[in-house]
Order: sequence, then structure tokens, then C-alpha cells
Amino acid sequence: MDELFVRVKKLQQEKNALILAHVYTPPEVQDAADYVGDSLGLSRRSADASVPQDRIIFCGVYFMAETAALLAPQKKVYIPDPKAGCPMADMAEVAEVLRLKAAHPGAAVVTYVNSTAAVKAVSDICVTSANAVCIVRKLPQRRIIFIPDRSLGAYVAAQVPDKEIILWPGFCPTHHRILGEFLTRVKAAHPQALILAHPENNKNVLEQADFIGSTGQMQEYASASAAREFIIASENGLLHRLRTDNPDKKFYPVTPLAVCPNMQKNTLEKLGNVLENMERPADGAGLSVTVDEKIAVPARRAIQRMLELS
Ligand code: SF4
Repeated sequence: MDELFVRVKKLQQEKNALILAHVYTPPEVQDAADYVGDSLGLSRRSADASVPQDRIIFCGVYFMAETAALLAPQKKVYIPDPKAGCPMADMAEVAEVLRLKAAHPGAAVVTYVNSTAAVKAVSDICVTSANAVCIVRKLPQRRIIFIPDRSLGAYVAAQVPDKEIILWPGFCPTHHRILGEFLTRVKAAHPQALILAHPENNKNVLEQADFIGSTGQMQEYASASAAREFIIASENGLLHRLRTDNPDKKFYPVTPLAVCPNMQKNTLEKLGNVLENMERPADGAGLSVTVDEKIAVPARRAIQRMLELS
């Protein structure tokens, strides 16, 4: 077994830490984690009171670690690389959200969890890609301000036509590198394969999909399906999980460009370093993730409303 992997697992036991990893992180980081999932699954695991560990190492991007810190205030949350941000989350600003809210009194502000804690704090409710359609449908408001992903927002609008959805112009640069023409070419090479697509994709990708869902929903679909081959229109890290869980099936990426550079900042080496340095303020301080209580209280409310409705 790899020396670094052994070091990580040994340190993890000594420090009584839970390792959570998003499905877009590198394969060796996923393999070292106690739980690998999408945003909703990771949020639920962070909030799970039955988890005995009092420290969470969150291998993902910063807003995800913030969400874990919001949901598990009694635990300490760490991130292997605090510079692992999300460009889409950074596309939404509090002042502009407040301006939009004032311009549309009575509208519900529905915010994708891929957002900063500060933006969540001025939102009525959060959603993930797994539950966005279901939650928007359940809300009493007819007019919805959807932040920050215009692709997911447009997908929700198509599924819930009785609502008026005001779209924020944000997008995921990684998913937007997946072009419709790339997908057409991969499909021509593998005509039997079903196309599974994440709703963060462009419309011309989603139009070709056999199934649209969150990463967790794509995993469930691929495992349950009788089909043997799948084309995955999402971040390529997901293919490792799908291949591990379904060794008898084939999974093809659309393009090698579909790699999130921020998720790749979670290396096994940095995971070892965070475990090593978490108790040394000089080395580990920047690795712990906390949210100011003024922001944490309303942000937590928006996430908890989501967990109750989903
Ligand atoms: S894949 Fe897209 S939405 Fe996810 S962290 Fe990377 S940039 Fe953000």
C-alpha cells in the first residue's frame, strides 16, 4: 500500500478525525475518505449527530467546508487547501443579491449550496442540484430569485413552468467546458452508451442527455440501470466513483477538459499535512474553517430549511 496513504490513515486514527470527500476530488483522496458524496450527502453527513469524531477534514472546495462548519458547530472543520475556492460561488455578491431582493418584493431567494456563507445568509432557502426542482415546486412564492447558477436555474424553470424564475448570471466554468459537439462525437463513438448529465451543464448538453441529475442521482441511476455503458457529462472525478462502484460497467468522459482545478487542490499530501498540523496554530490556523456567528445564524437557517423540505 502507498506510504502516504498509510500515513494519512494512521494520523486520522490518532487525531480522531472524519474524512469527507467530494466525488470530484482526485481518486486517491476519495479512497482515503470515510465518506464520498455530493453536496447534499456531505451536508447530511456533516450534520449527523451520531458521527463520533469531533473533527471533520473536508476534502472539497471552501464553501462546502463552510457548510460543514455551519451544520456541525460543535465540531472543528478543516480543509486541506484553503485556496480551493469555487469560481461560481464567487460570482454572487451580497450587495447585488440584496438589490435584486429589493427590486422584487415577495420573491423567494433560492440559493444553490455552491455559494458563500454570506450569500446563504441573505437567502430564504438553499438547494442542491438533487433537490432544487422539488424545493422550488414546494415553495409558496410564485416568483423565485435563483442564485448563482443560471444553468441549474434554467433547468429548474423548465421543470416548474408555473413559477417565474429570475436567473443570476453565474455558471460553473468546469461544466461549461463540456460542449454539445464534444458530446455528439463521444456518443457517435459509443452509440449504445446512455448519456448522464449534471444540470450545471449548458442547454445543448442537457438536450442530448438520457438522464439529468445531481452526481448522487447519476450514481444511483448508473447502478440501477440495466445498461452497460454510460457517457458522463460532469466533472471527470465522478468517473472514479462510478467505476469503483460498478466494475462490470463502462464509463466514458466527454472531454479531458472537464476537470475542476480547485477540487484537484485536495491532494493526499495536503490531507496528511492538515492531519499533522491541525493542533499547531502557527501551521494549522489557516486550515480550520469557521463562520462568523452573525453570518452563521441566518445561513444555517437557509440550509436547515432545505434539509427539512428535501
Ligand atoms: S466543479 Fe464547478 S461548481 Fe464545482 S467547485 Fe468546481 S467550479 Fe465550483
